[in-house]
Amino acid sequence: MTLTSSHSNLVRAVVAAGVVATMAACTSTTSTSLQGPKESPSLSTAVVYQTESKEYPLLSQFVYAQAIDALPAQFNAADVVVMDVDETVLDNSQYQRERESQGLGYSPSSWEAWVKRKEATLVPGVAEFLKEVIARNGKVALITNRDKSLDRYTWENLLAQSLPLTPQNTCVMGRVQQDKEAVGQPNIVNDKDLRRTQLISGEAACSIGNDKRNWRKPHTIIMQIGDNIEDFAGVTQESADVNTLSPQTGTSLFILPNPMYGSW
Ligand SMILES: [Mg+2]
Repeated sequence: MTLTSSHSNLVRAVVAAGVVATMAACTSTTSTSLQGPKESPSLSTAVVYQTESKEYPLLSQFVYAQAIDALPAQFNAADVVVMDVDETVLDNSQYQRERESQGLGYSPSSWEAWVKRKEATLVPGVAEFLKEVIARNGKVALITNRDKSLDRYTWENLLAQSLPLTPQNTCVMGRVQQDKEAVGQPNIVNDKDLRRTQLISGEAACSIGNDKRNWRKPHTIIMQIGDNIEDFAGVTQESADVNTLSPQTGTSLFILPNPMYGSW
């Protein structure tokens, strides 16, 4: 999943909303002035759902409670949980709200500026999950399609949320160009697969957690958690078969709701 492609639906929706808002403004200048300040473009139902509904936090907390139940009582030394970051650990709905309220959509520069603000909050339930992983001597690999150059901002954002993460128990791996170019090579189906194979073979290039004693050794991925189907190994949006993935969902695979954007 690329951020650019994952936001494409949102961009289309917001551009369409912006056109409508612009047309309305052009045809009702008088009424707008009589009604006071110009209203912001209305938010998409997706953003309202994520930020204001009761359903979203209940669902996220439920998924993470199920994931806690599926954890081993104690991790083996090589075991690792692989997690996505955006809309899996960090909630970026504030970014979406700000962009939509300006009649704008995703852009690489605005996204980078948002990441550097380090103001993303936590997805409901993830703090409890991560505390359980760490309490059971577990390790977490955060495989994110944020650009690798932003990894330190991601890390500082996570620490600001009081998560019990350390370079010893957490490896942060943002995306590099090689991740995209590797797609199509043997066993590399999506742009996170190369990083998963590096983790398994003991060659993970952690931006945070680059302590060789902890991370430069073979690992076993015991669980994968994400909000996008391509957060799971070996599938693409197009190739993923729900019936094949279903038996693993709730045991080793966990998927979170994200109505705001995706590779769908
Ligand atoms: Mg995500």
